[in-house]
Amino acid sequence: MKYDYDVIIIGSGPAGFSCAMQSSKFDKKVLVIEANKDSFGGTWINSGTIPSKALRETARIIQRFQSQFEDLTHEKAYQHHKMEELLKYKNETLQSKNSKVENDFNKNEIDTVRGYGVLKDANTIEVQKHDGEIEEFTAEFIFASPGSKPINPESFDVDHDKVLDYTSVLNLTHIPRKILVIGSGVQALEYATTFSNLGSRVSILNEADSFLPFLDNEITDQLIQVLKKQQIEVFSNANNITIASNSLRNTTEVRYQLRNDNEKDRTHVIETEHVLYLGGKTPNTSGMGLENAGVELDEDGYINVDNDYQTNVDNIFAGGDVIGYPALASASFSEGRLASCRMFGIEALDVPPEIPFAIYSIPEISSIGITEKEAKSRGYDVTVGRAYYKNITQGDISNQQEGLLKLVFETENLNLVGVHIIGERASDLIHLGQAVMSLGGDVRYFINHVLNYPTYSEAYRIAAFNGMNRVYKAGVKYKKILKNKN
Ligand SMILES: Cc1cc2nc3c(=O)[nH]c(=O)nc-3n(C[C@H](O)[C@H](O)[C@H](O)COP(=O)(O)OP(=O)(O)OC[C@H]3O[C@@H](n4cnc5c(N)ncnc54)[C@H](O)[C@@H]3O)c2cc1C
Repeated sequence: MKYDYDVIIIGSGPAGFSCAMQSSKFDKKVLVIEANKDSFGGTWINSGTIPSKALRETARIIQRFQSQFEDLTHEKAYQHHKMEELLKYKNETLQSKNSKVENDFNKNEIDTVRGYGVLKDANTIEVQKHDGEIEEFTAEFIFASPGSKPINPESFDVDHDKVLDYTSVLNLTHIPRKILVIGSGVQALEYATTFSNLGSRVSILNEADSFLPFLDNEITDQLIQVLKKQQIEVFSNANNITIASNSLRNTTEVRYQLRNDNEKDRTHVIETEHVLYLGGKTPNTSGMGLENAGVELDEDGYINVDNDYQTNVDNIFAGGDVIGYPALASASFSEGRLASCRMFGIEALDVPPEIPFAIYSIPEISSIGITEKEAKSRGYDVTVGRAYYKNITQGDISNQQEGLLKLVFETENLNLVGVHIIGERASDLIHLGQAVMSLGGDVRYFINHVLNYPTYSEAYRIAAFNGMNRVYKAGVKYKKILKNKN
């Protein structure tokens, strides 16, 4: 049967974008359907990854300036900077990114159509356009990448005025004096430290019983110090959260209880100017006709796929937030590309299971592989090496002495099994450890190779020496170890 396209892609976020680009490089005829009337790029460009990082970047620059020139800056950032100016920078970044995506589609002869895509069957998609017109297209393959959206909280409303979510926070017209972030995840920490560095007083209300439990314990200890220094309070175990405005005091009152409170049923109150709700997300699968093609979803509405990103329907693939974990732009790019390779039978390596994570708090946190605790619970004999930023020349030069890089490696063969970093540039630094780990290297790499100096990468060398010293003290001949493996 002759189809209109080789592949139709639903959604132009990172998963859809990379599937489209890769398919066009294979000389395939590609159509991207995008529901957003004005812009491509989904959460990636318009409301998530890039805008939050652009806003954070302004806060980071202010923080760096203030820490370097403390004497010159007695006043808080919000007394110097207007939210309008910060958002202008963010908007320029978004516009530039948006037009790059559009250019890439044009240059690579990828067709696009604006409207909501609904599957009629496994090869046919109906596009409901914004002007009411309906158009149908057919394709041999379909790639579903419609992303996800925030789950609405049960006990209060997000009014996008006093109570914001990750989309409406980008429209704030001023830097709030006080903001309460409700959430327990990565984004809660990112926005909390961003606003704190812009001069807001920040608290975090966490509905879970722990805060970022997947982090290495020593990274968490450092993080606690950072939060203390920035005067960010974290209240975990919160429940029964309600929000009301107090018009007399012109504030927003957040009431909550703590599950582990000694006085059961005691209600706590925080007065704030704004609330930023960063709760869970849910996949955009309802209403797009997946059932018409027989595509299977899991109980939470995510599309089930195998390692090739193929659904139970042979010609339908899916990637990005709609397939669930890890729900990151970084992973979505790989998923879209690999799905394209698999559908057109082009050989490509699987994505290794170990992927790096980054938390763009100020300072950043990033990790790959297993933590010391996990290694021990799995029965590995591991040694750790640490480098504190205060001992790194670049940390001194940039006045960024808060931070730790921790290597976890097997004592017997020195193979690197985990890297955990908190500190300036952590999200970039992690890739050196990732490369060594994925090539099966050991910690001597960082000693035997010359690394640029001064750089934050020096932390790897210091941590490797620190770890090797520990191995030596445990009775293994250091000289011998440096020379031969095993
Ligand atoms: C505040 C925030 C910060 C983040 N920071 C990071 C970060 O630093 N690093 C990182 O890796 N990830 C980050 N993420 C996560 C990242 O944004 C997502 O994982 C990523 O955007 C998911 O990509 P996607 O392609 O699945 O979907 P999306 O980027 O959400 O794109 C989906 C697109 O599909 C369109 N669509 C939906 N349904 C239809 C339909 N039926 N027809 C046509 N079009 C449709 C939507 O309009 C949208 O444009 C962040 C997320 C948030 C919210």
